[in-house]
Amino acid sequence: MPDGTESESRKLLKRLREVMAGSDAGQTRLDKITHLIADSMGTEVCSVYLFRDSETLELCATEGLDAGAVHHTRMRLGEGLVGRVARTGRVVNTPDAPAEPGFRYMPETGEERYSSFLGIPVQRLGESLGVLVVQSRDARVFSADEVYALEVVAMVIAEMTELGAFVGEGAALSPLHQRSVLIRGISGQEGAAEGHVWLHEPRVVVTNPIAEDPQREGERLHEAVEQLRVGVDKMLELSRGADKEQLEVLEAYRMFANSKGWMRRMEEDIARGLSAEAAVEKEQSLARNRIAQAQDSYLRERLSDLDDLSNRLLRILTGQGNNTGADMPPDPILIARNIGPGDLLEYGRGLRAVVLEEGSVGSHAAIVARALAIPLVVRAARITTEALNGDQIMVDGDQALVHLRPDETVVSAFRDKIAMRAEAQQRYASIREKPATTLDGQTVEMHMNAGLMADLPSLDGSGAEGVGLFRTELQFLVRNKMPRRSELVALYARVLDAAKGKRVVFRTLDIGSDKVLPYMKPNDEPNPALGWRAIRVGLDKPGVMRMQLQALIRAANGRPLTVMFPFVAQFEEYRAARAEVDKTIAREKRLGHPLPGTLEIGAMLETPSLAFAPQKFFDEVGFLSIGGNDLKQFFFAADRENERVRRRYDTLNVSFLSLIERIVERCECSDTPLSFCGEDAGRPIEALCLAAIGIRSLSMRPASIGPVKSLLLRSNLADVRKVIFDARHRGDQSVRPAVMEYLRDLS
Ligand code: PEP
Ligand code: MG
Repeated sequence: MPDGTESESRKLLKRLREVMAGSDAGQTRLDKITHLIADSMGTEVCSVYLFRDSETLELCATEGLDAGAVHHTRMRLGEGLVGRVARTGRVVNTPDAPAEPGFRYMPETGEERYSSFLGIPVQRLGESLGVLVVQSRDARVFSADEVYALEVVAMVIAEMTELGAFVGEGAALSPLHQRSVLIRGISGQEGAAEGHVWLHEPRVVVTNPIAEDPQREGERLHEAVEQLRVGVDKMLELSRGADKEQLEVLEAYRMFANSKGWMRRMEEDIARGLSAEAAVEKEQSLARNRIAQAQDSYLRERLSDLDDLSNRLLRILTGQGNNTGADMPPDPILIARNIGPGDLLEYGRGLRAVVLEEGSVGSHAAIVARALAIPLVVRAARITTEALNGDQIMVDGDQALVHLRPDETVVSAFRDKIAMRAEAQQRYASIREKPATTLDGQTVEMHMNAGLMADLPSLDGSGAEGVGLFRTELQFLVRNKMPRRSELVALYARVLDAAKGKRVVFRTLDIGSDKVLPYMKPNDEPNPALGWRAIRVGLDKPGVMRMQLQALIRAANGRPLTVMFPFVAQFEEYRAARAEVDKTIAREKRLGHPLPGTLEIGAMLETPSLAFAPQKFFDEVGFLSIGGNDLKQFFFAADRENERVRRRYDTLNVSFLSLIERIVERCECSDTPLSFCGEDAGRPIEALCLAAIGIRSLSMRPASIGPVKSLLLRSNLADVRKVIFDARHRGDQSVRPAVMEYLRDLS
């Protein structure tokens, strides 16, 4: 295409379409395509490299290089100029390829004879599929127009690759979406599950990347964009009164929907022969590429807006709405880039597992997945591009592994693991009604953590003696507006009804830090975990706390009530909160509401400072519950959400255990009931050590009660205490190795 005209490029696409429509096998198609491109571009060489696996590119077809190199020449991502194009997603256009840094000489291809090199990434929606290269003997820089034309062709090749056009006999290509893939993420919730993929937002499939009639395509694009604009305007109309941030997002949508540059680029793509859908995808691909490279979070968000708009536009053009007609499989494993807690709750317990491409362990969706006891893996890179609806998938939440389209050996190993778990569950069911009494006669109370109505059935199922921690903020987090008092009364009453007289410890709102209510203005704090959160918000803005206390008292309606305040750092905060309770009780009495039969008011011990509070605090507080998640992060100064440091310090570190022992002693002096409700309570070895140093009440996820109780029943706490004492005496950093050894000898 030396003159680079649009009509030349259209002619090429037309010929490509003919190749596509023919009945050739995959490899023949690819060979014909490279021939056509070299011919049209006036270059001696045209080659297509596609990914063999996520790290290796393979020469799959060539016009001009030695035919014997096809399917033999391979390079790693980043290696040579081709690898550089694939890794960076950027075009390389050079008149003197051998002089370029990183040039790799491949004798089998005979390519040293070619001087100029133009490499274009083959991408679909920002996902790198391969590289398209043209080379010529004369030292020339390809014009911007030629680059652009080749980008359009690369786009078509990407679509064809996605559609499996190059698969088949002789192609030796393992197509995307057919090979098995192992993805390593981060564990958000343990457990193992097997099922079939259900995409939260299914991919749009474009079956017609090349169009015959540019004018008609242009019209289709304009009609679709118009529909999109009307839709965005309608959203804006409906969102009047919504918060500023939401409006800002919609305004940004509107700006993009009206953006001339965006339209112009898509019109140019169409003029060169792409269909309207392919033109949208091409722009979307570029935006995704920029998202991946953008450092600035504001820019990244705006590019994500554009990505979202492109999705909407594609759905309008293809008629593939959210409802693609596919039926949810009976064993769905949900795959999403990210998901809000509300959406996840709507899917509910029907899901076998959840895999998120983004997300974080501390996200609200993760909290909900945990509450629903659904295995969750977050940060599973590329899962939304790799997975298709209906694919077989196995999720190992313990190891944070996702096996997509697994092969036979993986399937059988995985099934063994699930069977072993099921066996263990049966064993746990047989000890459900037994108290957790150790061999030396010490009984540890087993309670469960909850936060949603959906958790309550587990009270019976797990054999928990009560709810040791009810995280009330979950109800606030999963809504998009502040719940009304009457709603809270009804909810808390249902919780107490479901508990059938078992004790429920309601923790007042613990918001702030990572738990930001969607309808509250987020505070821009440099260290939110150390910032304005939990009781600090409650005492500064007592309106919500009072409403919550009133709702709890009314829900109790004469029954016993237990309330706990989170994140108390000093005595005075507890006193102030306690005074709010007394005021609320007096008010409710005046209003003639029945008062709780009994009232227990306690605090969470989540900051090291509270362990050293005056003895009077321990005398006054009704009970204490150690929030080990927070206590540990503050004790070791290691952010519980930061993957780099989260696991660096062991809970069984002797210093941390000494702190817990100190708390136990102080509570014993004042007869203050003490429990432990952080995640460590649900880890058998940690739970055993906590019990050994004097904790007699643990609150954990319902699924952990069986494993913890099972270990306690087989252990002698006095022995474990001695193991801990000896380890400390020896100067061990953590008592874990010594306790593990003790347990090995037990079995
Ligand atoms: C804790 O900090 O240990 C705790 C139980 O509270 P949360 O995890 O909700 O902060
Ligand atoms: Mg906490």
